[in-house]
Amino acid sequence: MTDDSIGAFRDELIDSGLVIDAGVEGLYGRTLAYEEIVSGIIALTTRTGAGDGAMAVHFPPLIPRWLLERTDYLKSFPDLTGSVHTFGGDDKRHARLLALVDGGHDWVEVLEPAEVVLRPAACHPVYPLCTGGPLPTQGRRFEVQGWCFRHEPSADPARMLCFRMHEFVYVGDPDGAGAHSELWLKRGAEMFESMGLDVDVVVANDPFFGRAGKFLAANQLDDALKLEFVSPVSSTETRTAIGSVNRHQDHFGLTFGIESADGEVAHSACFAVGVDRTALALLKRHGLDPGRWPAEVRARLWP
Ligand code: ATP
Ligand code: ZN
Repeated sequence: MTDDSIGAFRDELIDSGLVIDAGVEGLYGRTLAYEEIVSGIIALTTRTGAGDGAMAVHFPPLIPRWLLERTDYLKSFPDLTGSVHTFGGDDKRHARLLALVDGGHDWVEVLEPAEVVLRPAACHPVYPLCTGGPLPTQGRRFEVQGWCFRHEPSADPARMLCFRMHEFVYVGDPDGAGAHSELWLKRGAEMFESMGLDVDVVVANDPFFGRAGKFLAANQLDDALKLEFVSPVSSTETRTAIGSVNRHQDHFGLTFGIESADGEVAHSACFAVGVDRTALALLKRHGLDPGRWPAEVRARLWP
């Protein structure tokens, strides 16, 4: 994949009026025509998981700072983290803030960290809901979606600072987590293919930070804990993940103190659709005018 083709797709998306350059690399506005694609993907994902008894929940794109600490995100992905800062000073400090801004200086030093940070994955707020006693025999299931932030600015329009994820999460025993992964590997592939997308399933690893991260990534690959649905997005020559199935084993069970029905440490697994990447994959595959997409694809997205 050449940088040219990636940049060309970004320009095409912006020229088509679907996506708006929001002022820094990786940050985009969206027009209604684009949002209609997003709504279609979200509705199709919901229909695909309907009937499993998942509790549908929505959370803001912010999570408590303690939650980011508990998920170990700072250990594994410090470079992707986004923190919120606010102003809590007096008149004197305010004057200092304005002087720094006027002088074109860095003014963030005048701010203080808030009690919230930006949410890096849609599923993180559901794990604290599973504590306080053993889970039911069938475990718990959640459908959770919304905006996520990862600080990975890029010229590639598929790698955004802010994007939507739609997930189906299972928390329970190891067999249940294995069954959830198997089910969604099949369902996920069928769902993406039903939109006319060409997807492969590949074993993948998360972009763990630093030297210790190399071991974590190698273990994740060895145990095939992360599988990605990859499809052409910004370029027809290379594939990008538009979704993933993640087996967390007992990671969240341990860090949050979640107990399965038999009193063991709970296991969990999730299926995640990268909603905005899927929208881009559809635009790459079927063209920039959704009105002219194949009738069967339109019928899947907007029945
Ligand atoms: P990648 O390998 O591309 O960095 P990831 O392994 O970090 O992705 P997951 O944590 O599995 O991604 O997130 C689920 C889905 O969210 C991904 O399959 C992808 O479609 C989407 N996603 C992740 N990061 C971004 C991003 N920066 N911009 C847009 N979508 C993203
Ligand atoms: Zn998840």
